[in-house]
Amino acid sequence: MGKIIDGKAVSADVKARIAIETAELKKQGIEVGLAVVIVGNDPASKVYVRNKKLACEAVGFNSYEYALGEDTTEEQLLELVDKLNSDPKINGILVQLPLPKGLDDKVIINNIRPEKDVDAFHPVNVGKIMIGDYSFLPCTPAGVMELIASTGTEIEGKECVVIGRSNIVGKPMAMLLLHKSGTVTVCHSRTKNLKEVCSRADILVSAVGRAKMITADYIKEGAVVIDVGMNRDENGKLCGDVDFASCEPKASYITPVPGGVGPMTIAMLMQNTLTAAKQQNGLI
Ligand code: NDP
Repeated sequence: MGKIIDGKAVSADVKARIAIETAELKKQGIEVGLAVVIVGNDPASKVYVRNKKLACEAVGFNSYEYALGEDTTEEQLLELVDKLNSDPKINGILVQLPLPKGLDDKVIINNIRPEKDVDAFHPVNVGKIMIGDYSFLPCTPAGVMELIASTGTEIEGKECVVIGRSNIVGKPMAMLLLHKSGTVTVCHSRTKNLKEVCSRADILVSAVGRAKMITADYIKEGAVVIDVGMNRDENGKLCGDVDFASCEPKASYITPVPGGVGPMTIAMLMQNTLTAAKQQNGLI
């Protein structure tokens, strides 16, 4: 039977560590502030923003929410980003993506000061991740690394397969595994023989966005299986890319959806915000 990796428990540990450090900073008169900007009325984005706010409160950060209307112009949004860039109370800036039509994600992200880009989406931070010299972690992939570490699995020399090559998950995920000396294969929609490639993986990370597409025949006996996917099944229930019921018996460790990677992404965002505050106060 596979052992289920409890993302909630691992994320609670990370957040508890952050809360202790935040309390220490407070004693030195340093408060940590995260600005979360949401534009428009996307219900999923609203849920994410609320969860980020709650996480800030739980670790002792100040959170500042900026909710802008659907008809916000690029100029108005850039004006706000500029203001936050120069506000010393704000250590991290997060603009919730996707932005409504008419606003270009790239233009906005490129205007956040890299030192405050706690999502690590700015090209400067992406470049730093590439060369392995980074202080901001790409949140979801970094969460996956914490989950793998929690199992005690060594990555060095292991066959690692990442399915998905997006800029926010697949590519940085591959980079982090490579920095840990995994032998990394990145798969995508044009990959031939996906099943055969996946079944070689000692560590399989799926970030596709297709409900239950990874079935037991993709899984090597004893593999560590990490499911980043967040999808709805035929009954509208939240599920991952991995068909948990058939894969769990073959895996040595496996993440559930929900309760696996999801809670880690926010914990890593908190970690980046703390790092930003320490950097901006000359502590690191
Ligand atoms: P994208 O849609 O940007 O990327 C999906 C990737 O999957 C692409 O590289 C695509 O290939 C590949 N793909 C699509 N179909 C197939 C297929 N049949 N076989 C192999 N590869 C395929 O998604 P994201 O990376 O943004 O997100 C992926 C999933 O992770 C989503 O379900 C998302 O909701 C979830 N997610 C979860 C987070 C969390 O905190 N738990 C955070 C971020 C995302 P190609 O490039 O060729 O098109």
